[in-house]
Amino acid sequence: MSSTAKEETNNKPQPPKNNNNGKQNNNSNGNGNAKKQARLCPGRDSYERMNFLYQASVLMAESAPALSGCYGKLMKAVGKKAVLRVEPAIKRTLCARCGVALSSSSTASYSDFRHKKLSYVEVRCKLCAFSKRYYENKKHRIRLDDPAAVVETMEFN
Ligand SMILES: [Zn+2]
Repeated sequence: MSSTAKEETNNKPQPPKNNNNGKQNNNSNGNGNAKKQARLCPGRDSYERMNFLYQASVLMAESAPALSGCYGKLMKAVGKKAVLRVEPAIKRTLCARCGVALSSSSTASYSDFRHKKLSYVEVRCKLCAFSKRYYENKKHRIRLDDPAAVVETMEFN
């Protein structure tokens, strides 16, 4: 046991080199598919991590809102670092300030305001009290809703 522990400690300073070599060898030898897919979809690793963090955030929203906010913020940070965009429909389910997953039952309150020409939906985060208004504007269209804006949809199994 002691010898293995020593070996591990000896190896620890080196891992950057070893890991990189191992990864390169693996990619060049066996994982042709993974390499192809990585080429087709740049930033796939980050997308997968963001997906995981988002799901974790939604899962924790009711039981541990602070943890949910932590995951949500981390998900945004990962996207920012890798310069990847989050779909507006998903982005709007996270609080813009604290990152908690907004759900009408626990972490957010939705109010619909209508007065003459002004109408909007206000989403208020119960955790950090940040509120965001979505104004009704018939001319406003989310770019992804335009079929011409979508070039290709990829699915990975
Ligand atoms: Zn918030």
